[in-house]
Amino acid sequence: MTTVRLGFAADWAGFRAAARNLAAAGARPETITWLVGEEANLFADDTPPPPSEASFTVPRRYVDLAETVIMARDPERFALLYGLLYRIRHGESGLLQDAADPAVHRAMMLAHAVRRDIHKMRAFVRFREVSDDGGTRHVAWFEPDHHIVEANAPFFVRRFATLAWSILTPERSVHWDAERLRLGPGASRADLPEDDRFAECWQVYYRAIFNPARLKISAMLSEMPRKYWKNLPEARDIPALIAAAGARTEGMLAAPATTPRLARIRAPAADDAQATPWAILKNQAQVCRNCPLWEHATQTVFGEGEIGAAIMLVGEQPGDQEDLAGRPFIGPAGQVLDHALRAAGLERSALYITNAVKHFKFEPRGRRRIHQKPNDAEIEVCRFWLDQERELIEPRLTVALGATAGRALLGRAVTISRERGRLIDLPGGARALITVHPSYLLRLSDAAAKRREYAAFVRDLRLAAEMAATGMGLQHSEP
Ligand code: SF4
Repeated sequence: MTTVRLGFAADWAGFRAAARNLAAAGARPETITWLVGEEANLFADDTPPPPSEASFTVPRRYVDLAETVIMARDPERFALLYGLLYRIRHGESGLLQDAADPAVHRAMMLAHAVRRDIHKMRAFVRFREVSDDGGTRHVAWFEPDHHIVEANAPFFVRRFATLAWSILTPERSVHWDAERLRLGPGASRADLPEDDRFAECWQVYYRAIFNPARLKISAMLSEMPRKYWKNLPEARDIPALIAAAGARTEGMLAAPATTPRLARIRAPAADDAQATPWAILKNQAQVCRNCPLWEHATQTVFGEGEIGAAIMLVGEQPGDQEDLAGRPFIGPAGQVLDHALRAAGLERSALYITNAVKHFKFEPRGRRRIHQKPNDAEIEVCRFWLDQERELIEPRLTVALGATAGRALLGRAVTISRERGRLIDLPGGARALITVHPSYLLRLSDAAAKRREYAAFVRDLRLAAEMAATGMGLQHSEP
């Protein structure tokens, strides 16, 4: 018998090295005992696997599957994975295509469960703010079903790169200080600080987006299973919202039809029962402190325009004048945009216009404030607000004005010259179109180039108008 002792529950590097050696030596699966950490086993003799220099290749599909399955909370996962590897090496190279094979089926079910757990952690981590002499930290408690904390940590680093945060779980904790990621031992729910203002924000937000007329309890429970409720501040309101849904729906049916237009949108207090979801969202963004950009800017410049617009325009960030006025695209670039929109036959008032980053980033130079491009971390953190706006407005087409907007929209770097004017599918059936930012036209010094580029910009906006009207006629590409 051979015993393999792995460092921790999802020790992929340890498993891969041991499995490689064992497979190269031809070790049969039933002769191997897999243990984790200090785990004891009466029948294990702690004979380590033989080292091997032999190299061989395994299908990429196996590696992808094994990397996920190893995180499953199933004591048999290592044996299952090594068994599959052994069979692939011994004449069953196409094994993973056979979903009816019990071992393959089992591995796929485990991978599915792990992926779902990863997704739920991303959706249901709720930070609470703690301030003390050491500064401000954000702390969350989560109880994963599987060993996913380390694998999920890079997602939270990207998403909240400039914040200091900790995610506590019963087995492992992960801490980010805006520079370095650190893993720590497990914690208990009692280590979580008391509720803070974020809890109320979540409640207000959920009450605002809860549509009683669309209530489907089974679908809601599938998306937000009850086991997560205890850690979700917004879930406290769910029983009352469900109980009142019938009466509210009747009230909605009896009420006269409304046309939500910009002119009718107010910016109410967050607890105003009449507030629209958009107004509540805008209010919440006013106090956002998720990255350092708020500190020197005058105010959050949120999007504005038609709620339910077919086209949403996304710029980079507010400029000097926008920062002072609190409205997007009202400075020099906004004037170029207005001209181009008119030339393309688009009414600004029929669109929704926003920015990828909601605070003005600048460098003071004398009495002037010089625009600074937001970095990837700032774009990523602020994407939270853009995502919420897109969810509320549900535009058929989102036009990214420039590379920053493209990055925020697609979650990857965008090369304007390569991707402009192409229709890009977004998750959920919406589409995106990339073009330049109007400030690019202002920066061109050559008059001929300026005319040419302006004409190209108007062409892109015309395409957007046609697309939003017909949904046809453009070249598609993958996100
Ligand atoms: S730039 Fe965005 S994420 Fe940063 S503080 Fe402003 S609203 Fe929040």
